[in-house]
Amino acid sequence: DMTPISPADRHYLDVWGVAKSFKGTRVMSGMNFRVDRGELVSLLGPSGCGKTTLLRIIAGLMEADDGSVVLGGRDITRQPAHRRNISVVFQSYALFPHLTVAENVAFGLRARGTAKSATAAPVAEALRLVRMSDFADRPIAALSGGQQQRVAVARALVVGPDLLLLDEPFSALDRKLRETMQVELKSLLRDRGITAIFVTHDQEEAMGVSDRIAVMNAGRIEQFADPSTLYARPASPFVMDFVGLSTRLAARVTARDGDLLSLETALGPVRAPGDLAPGSAALLAVRPELVALGQGENTLSVTLEDVMVLGSKTMLHGRAPEGDRILCELPGIRTGLARGETVSLGWAVADTLVYGVDP
Ligand code: ATP
Repeated sequence: DMTPISPADRHYLDVWGVAKSFKGTRVMSGMNFRVDRGELVSLLGPSGCGKTTLLRIIAGLMEADDGSVVLGGRDITRQPAHRRNISVVFQSYALFPHLTVAENVAFGLRARGTAKSATAAPVAEALRLVRMSDFADRPIAALSGGQQQRVAVARALVVGPDLLLLDEPFSALDRKLRETMQVELKSLLRDRGITAIFVTHDQEEAMGVSDRIAVMNAGRIEQFADPSTLYARPASPFVMDFVGLSTRLAARVTARDGDLLSLETALGPVRAPGDLAPGSAALLAVRPELVALGQGENTLSVTLEDVMVLGSKTMLHGRAPEGDRILCELPGIRTGLARGETVSLGWAVADTLVYGVDP
């Protein structure tokens, strides 16, 4: 395709038509992925969907079989990794345990040919950014996991990269520290206007750190959108299931009036916006926090299978036909509801998601 790219279509990072096979097995083809300058983006998906492969192709650590990678207007497809000015923070951090913190950070500069005497100032600045100045002379082995991650980030940033890639950067940290480090790193990247791509299989992490999330499935991007669109308007059942929980019920379209569908489920009739033909099989879904106790535009009467008091919320699990799931999330601690009780659950027509299902 020789169509010239118009300026309006020009993106800071432009991955176009990338394909990759391993020993004859295609894991990715026709991959298009574009990121704007200063954006924080996540590649999110289950194990084996191709996140790391895409990241490595962008970094130049792996060669694509086909397609191109353009960064800042320059075609870097054929450039080796060390010529790309892209920094990578690896899952393991890949620090040198026998070197000090400052020596590890200086390594990034030394590897690019900076004279030893010229490393002190940028190293000090990078350590200041990650709040590790007091640890400059410590050996890596004497640091906690969070501190090691800060050093890995300092080493990645010290060279002034055009693009920062992070492969599961928080996975070695416990839950509380992970949240602290996410806030810290995000604010650092924002302040410096750095364009970064995170690889993660944790949807909360992706929602928390990114402007946009590319949800990947089997070597394809199923949806690339900001967190709120992804959550409120998932483009497919895969995306809906991957980002958050939903009530989900098998349904059949009984009538269509404009863009309003009437559907029949095992628990009763429901209405939803959509454009499926009458007779179609469908999957109906609604996010649990949009379901309330009592009547709504859509109302189903369900018997409670379980009531889970989780502290910040209480989750009601309705008894559902096999393969389906009925969830209602109420804010805070709710007492006085018990398993076996029959309740009405209601929600708005506009909050109802419908997907066509191949028969
Ligand atoms: P994870 O979250 O487990 O790291 P991922 O989404 O990053 O998974 P990739 O590592 O990109 O997935 O792998 C994509 C597919 O390519 C998988 O099916 C994987 O088995 C395969 N694959 C990746 N690297 C190689 C390789 N060097 N040789 C053969 N197959 C590979």
